[in-house]
Amino acid sequence: MNNRTEYISTPRRTKDIIARHGFSFKKSLGQNFLVDQNILHNIVEAAQLDDTKGALEIGPGIGALTEKLSQTAGKVTAVEIDQRLIPILTEVLEPYDNVRVEHADVLKVDLHELFRQDFEDVSKVSVVANLPYYVTTPILMKLLEEKLPLENIVVMIQKEVAVRMAAAPGSKDYGSLSIAVQYYSEPELVCVVPHTVFIPQPNVESAVIRLAVRQAPPVHVEDEAFFFDVVQSSFAQRRKTIANNLKSRFFPGEGRERLEELLAEAGIEPVRRGETLSIEEYARLSNVLHHAGIR
Ligand code: SAM
Repeated sequence: MNNRTEYISTPRRTKDIIARHGFSFKKSLGQNFLVDQNILHNIVEAAQLDDTKGALEIGPGIGALTEKLSQTAGKVTAVEIDQRLIPILTEVLEPYDNVRVEHADVLKVDLHELFRQDFEDVSKVSVVANLPYYVTTPILMKLLEEKLPLENIVVMIQKEVAVRMAAAPGSKDYGSLSIAVQYYSEPELVCVVPHTVFIPQPNVESAVIRLAVRQAPPVHVEDEAFFFDVVQSSFAQRRKTIANNLKSRFFPGEGRERLEELLAEAGIEPVRRGETLSIEEYARLSNVLHHAGIR
């Protein structure tokens, strides 16, 4: 196999592309490129794509994953922040006519507009990416909070963050991030990934996670912003009881009677800690507080 037909993601072709373009990695942009066929295959397979579907990739790098996506999905749009990678992507993705590369910071892109422009004629859309670890959470929360018409999100992220996103009540990893992600999606850990599949190798462990995006939240909440405020406040100090955390945030300078009454109305023992409450219990609690005029 010569260099023109070899996959971009083989270590040899990756090194060749990098050397020919004199590319130097920017750690500050989370640049760790994938050089493993099996992992790429697992990522693309987890997204359940076919040629009627679209894929939005965030941070294509030199196109390792983009190439696989273009061979599986009907349409691919890849958003890359680093201007130096744009001519490289134009060159290596030249054989694929279903890919559009946009030079932008994904956090600043109007994604609804991008979807109208690129994905009007596809049946479903997935986000598929090996995310830059320094902005994983802001990127995922933007995708989820903007309620984009997504089927799923399959991303390689720091393992520790993936475990927190998928954690169940009662575990030490369960927190406000678990609840935020699980309010919008059903997370599932796809696989844990060794350091050796990247150039250069990152210092942290990685994992692939799939978020099956919900059509509607699993619970009814009167006011979403207030619900998330209650959740965040309940984890403000993990060692404290839910009553103590809520008191500091919503009842400063008051006695405990009213708070305890409202907790009782929501069916929650004041001595419990935030990490033991399910998403249903947080919904009930925030609705009771909201009805009582607490803000
Ligand atoms: N997809 C490639 C791969 O798997 O080999 C590269 C993945 S690398 C972990 C992350 C990529 O995201 C880099 O190409 C980096 O330049 C890009 N990136 C970082 N911050 C970004 C942002 N805010 N918006 C878009 N791309 C970003």
